[in-house]
Amino acid sequence: MERRDFIASVAVSPIAAATAAAAETSSVEQATPARPLSITLLGTGTPAPSLTRQSSGYLIEIGSDLFVWDHGPGAHHRLIESGHRTIDVTHAFFTHLHYDHCMDYGRLVLQRWDQGADRIADLKVWGPPPIARMTQQLFGEDGIYGPDIKARCEHRSSLDVFEARGGKAPRKRPNPQVTEIHAGSVIDGNGWKITVGHAQHVQPYLECLAFRLDTKEGSICYTGDSGPSNSIVELAKGCDLLIHMNHYFSGTEPTPAYRAACGNHRDNAEIAKRAGVKTLVLVHLLAQIDQPGIREQIVHEIQEVFDGTVIWGEDLMKLGVVNAKITTIETKQGDA
Ligand SMILES: [Zn+2]
Repeated sequence: MERRDFIASVAVSPIAAATAAAAETSSVEQATPARPLSITLLGTGTPAPSLTRQSSGYLIEIGSDLFVWDHGPGAHHRLIESGHRTIDVTHAFFTHLHYDHCMDYGRLVLQRWDQGADRIADLKVWGPPPIARMTQQLFGEDGIYGPDIKARCEHRSSLDVFEARGGKAPRKRPNPQVTEIHAGSVIDGNGWKITVGHAQHVQPYLECLAFRLDTKEGSICYTGDSGPSNSIVELAKGCDLLIHMNHYFSGTEPTPAYRAACGNHRDNAEIAKRAGVKTLVLVHLLAQIDQPGIREQIVHEIQEVFDGTVIWGEDLMKLGVVNAKITTIETKQGDA
């Protein structure tokens, strides 16, 4: 199925309906990105504490937009390590509200607001319910950070810093522009389109989503957290990169429910094969499998089923949608 056909076949939400005319002419094809499409893995770990793998977070660069997919604890630190500034993030998308996917939301909003000093647009945010309530309860006047925000808006010392950064009193409160989304929602951006799919994870306690990004340069599908699911296969059909949770070693699942919610490496091999993706990127990696020898075994066993490229994700790994090809013994100066 062609990419355009796939997009058209996905159920259309009110969000998509509102932008139907724009979708018809496809801004995906008309825009000229200022920088190539890339994804940086900000956090490839789990809820478990780790210094080498922060919790879930991804950074997408496309044209003039810089957005994050999930922002778990440590992801924002990695974003700064990646060489980007907090104030440069334009959009945030959340797949589900497990804390290991959203705990740095507060840091992103507050540091962006503080450093931005009213000179940048409010952050645009999409996620499943209750992301609107979470936002209000974090940043509203009666929210957890309400007294801090009031102090920074009104105390002379804080206003001194605000004005030194170029702000002009009275200072505005942070006001993330939140849109709640569901499987079937479509978000049409400047040179990109995100289709929201269903992830099979911890329903009915949390609504769990997956994202597919289409641009004229290529496509990236991120499963959020998901076990093996036909809906992920449909969402990811033919995409360049599939970023998939690869939580644990096949056969060690304690219960069928665990496997259904998290999947394993053999499940992922089948998903990647059925979806016909070019590259499978393994993320959300438990310490159980993050060991020399085990990593290689997993990649080898996946490649016995799936004939595309398999990448063992690492924090701060930056990927484009074009597969690397070896053409010479030499690498660029400084690479070797
Ligand atoms: Zn989760």
